[in-house]
Amino acid sequence: MSAALFRSSTISEDQEYSKFFGHVSNQIRIFTFPRSMSLSPTINAVDLSAMNSLGLACKAERVTDLNDLSQLPALSALACLSAPVVVLGGGSNLVLPARLERLVVRVQLKGIDLVEQRPDAWIVDVAAGENWHDFVTNSIRRGWDGLENLALIPGTVGAAPVQNIGAYGVELDSRIESVTAWHIPESRLVTFKREACGFKYRDSMFKRAGLGQWLIVRVRFCLPRPWQPVVGYPDVLRHPALAGTTPEAIRAQQIYDAVCDIRRTKLPDPAVLGNAGSFFKNPVVSESEFNALKLRFADIVSYPQADGSFKLAAGWLIERCGWKGKRQGRVGVHARQALVLVNYGQATASELLDLAAAIKQSVLKAFGVVLEIEPVLVSDAGD
Ligand SMILES: Cc1cc2nc3c(=O)[nH]c(=O)nc-3n(C[C@H](O)[C@H](O)[C@H](O)COP(=O)(O)OP(=O)(O)OC[C@H]3O[C@@H](n4cnc5c(N)ncnc54)[C@H](O)[C@@H]3O)c2cc1C
Repeated sequence: MSAALFRSSTISEDQEYSKFFGHVSNQIRIFTFPRSMSLSPTINAVDLSAMNSLGLACKAERVTDLNDLSQLPALSALACLSAPVVVLGGGSNLVLPARLERLVVRVQLKGIDLVEQRPDAWIVDVAAGENWHDFVTNSIRRGWDGLENLALIPGTVGAAPVQNIGAYGVELDSRIESVTAWHIPESRLVTFKREACGFKYRDSMFKRAGLGQWLIVRVRFCLPRPWQPVVGYPDVLRHPALAGTTPEAIRAQQIYDAVCDIRRTKLPDPAVLGNAGSFFKNPVVSESEFNALKLRFADIVSYPQADGSFKLAAGWLIERCGWKGKRQGRVGVHARQALVLVNYGQATASELLDLAAAIKQSVLKAFGVVLEIEPVLVSDAGD
């Protein structure tokens, strides 16, 4: 991240950072801290298998909790002495190694605040450690509509911008006003307007920067009013929760109910069968590549993009290569959703990645298309 990108301002010693959260109006703004609190005591030799949705066994040498923003400078001081830290949210988009010597920081920051009720939007601040689905549920209950299509995605609010979560026609970036993050190596708190976050499909500049660089502490949502339903997906539109409702009469609660029900039916529950949701991104190809594929595979599933390219359904490609429901030792491809790789129990990251490599190879051979892994691969060596 280039220093030229930053517009900086310094908070005077006796002013509290929290007072300034309401005053951020520039594209990017930096804060420094008046006071610093020490980190929570480090716990040694922690088994992370229950803290990652794939259920991979991982012994972490040192784990600490971040409960308060004033602990951030202490975190940076500790981080500069060792390899980059691993920031851990709900662990639902991570592939962990068997052993981690790197310091693991669990983000436990809490708080939800309605900042402003504008005629054109609800503006809501949410701390990074809040559970994503609980926040969505809470917001629909309070009438802050707009996140219903993203219901039941596991994980935390702070991780949601990292891969710009999306589902059923809504991408998170369309609901974000700004993201406030701590730059761990440089010990600085920065607020990025949405345009500065480099959001793309399942990607952002926070993900591209690599582990241990940015720790997101707060997300400011902008939920447009009047609310407009997004029901482009046939599964949602035809769901019984929307039955008999005209497009004008649809309510956010109905979409929320439909999305929750569809997800419960289609996706394995990580509490029952370890998984990280989609293991591969949907690949994007040019129009000419798509036309060539369409000639060979008339029923190929695709979604035209605004720039003329085509997004292909990775699940369809994998299924056509015969992987759906296949098991390879302690790992496998889910029987109902070919995009989801599962851990049948006691599997290691390398078993899972071997399976992923075999799938990638056969999709490349059959279609000439390169699949990219979606979850973050954590190594113990640093990135
Ligand atoms: C059953 C299932 C279904 C899923 N469905 C979807 C879906 O429909 N759409 C979708 O987009 N994703 C989906 N996912 C993926 C996952 O839920 C999201 O990526 C989620 O945002 C991850 O949140 P987390 O808190 O678990 O992050 P973690 O897995 O803990 O971390 C993921 C990455 O974010 C980083 N990170 C975590 N917290 C912070 C923070 N505060 N600051 C900076 N970096 C941080 C981590 O270091 C890591 O690099 C699904 C996963 C599962 C298991």
